Amino acid sequence: MNVRPSGRAKRKTVNCDVCGKEGAHERTATRAFGRGADMFVIEGIPYVQCPHCSERYFNAETLLELENIKASLTRKRTPPFVVFPTKS
Ligand SMILES: [Zn+2]
Repeated sequence: MNVRPSGRAKRKTVNCDVCGKEGAHERTATRAFGRGADMFVIEGIPYVQCPHCSERYFNAETLLELENIKASLTRKRTPPFVVFPTKS
């Protein structure tokens, strides 16, 4: 059977870290962190969604980057809105 790509722009698939199957999709999310006056939003965080086990998770690299962002925001107390840095 020949399955044609759906035509949507670059859909990257990866191996699922949870069940190990191929075909998990990389997507991006906007998430709020912290609470009250310390709350901030990070836009465009890449995460993996697996169609096999329905798991959604951030990979280790992303988690590390999130920690960096959170640490720098806590230090600076700057505007509570950040776009996740994307690599090309
Ligand atoms: Zn999975």
